[in-house]
Amino acid sequence: MIIYKSEDEIKTMRRAGELVANVLLKLEKAIKPGVDTKFLDKIAEDVIFSHNAKPAFKGYSGRISKVPFPRTICTSINEEVVHGIPGKRILKEGDLISIDVGVKLDGFFGDAARSFRVGAVNKKVDKIMQATWGALNDAIDKCVAGNRLGDISHAIELRAKSNGYSVVEDFVGHGIGRNMHEDPQVLNYGPANQGLLLKRGIVLAIEPMLNEGGSDVEVLEDSWTVVTRDRKISCHFEDTVAITSEGSIILTRLDQ
Ligand code: MG
Repeated sequence: MIIYKSEDEIKTMRRAGELVANVLLKLEKAIKPGVDTKFLDKIAEDVIFSHNAKPAFKGYSGRISKVPFPRTICTSINEEVVHGIPGKRILKEGDLISIDVGVKLDGFFGDAARSFRVGAVNKKVDKIMQATWGALNDAIDKCVAGNRLGDISHAIELRAKSNGYSVVEDFVGHGIGRNMHEDPQVLNYGPANQGLLLKRGIVLAIEPMLNEGGSDVEVLEDSWTVVTRDRKISCHFEDTVAITSEGSIILTRLDQ
């Protein structure tokens, strides 16, 4: 069931989205070789609590894993796709780290992810980051009332394939609102011109995950960390986007 949001509800979601964006900005400044991911988690938690919000992922269990997620953010490095658990792992020069941040503020969720370079990276990291960021922006360009959900999915697949990457099929974007995961599922592949008709009041978390190698992924023994089966690198970007009467608003970007 799609839950359409009113203008007032979207305003509240905007504030949740801005907090997510601010957490990611703060994390970006802290990322460097030698830092461990638990340190990044603490920074995020401090910012979230200081705004009277709650981390959305901490304690989360459900359709993704029955084990409650133990930390505030997800930190996924290199071959890790999504849902990496912050801990003692130390960032190294050349790593690609994706950080996923979710918050609940005044009853509504915001959700976004950014991939970051750790120090200087090689060309293959730069290239997959550009393609994944491009895929997210292509998808957001399709968030127009009158388009179909498949237009979003297709835009991601098109950008991925045209750059020689595969897309992860086992994990998807989602509707978001008073629940972190609502209908519809937003696939990162599929035909254009099909599926749900996009209307004002729909809010989506769009999250392309592009793999350097094959699309297959597996979950590690910690019940959460998703890695590529071939252990080649993966990249992930995500934004929460609202479709309104005045076009779409990227709720998790401060410059919108
Ligand atoms: Mg999400």
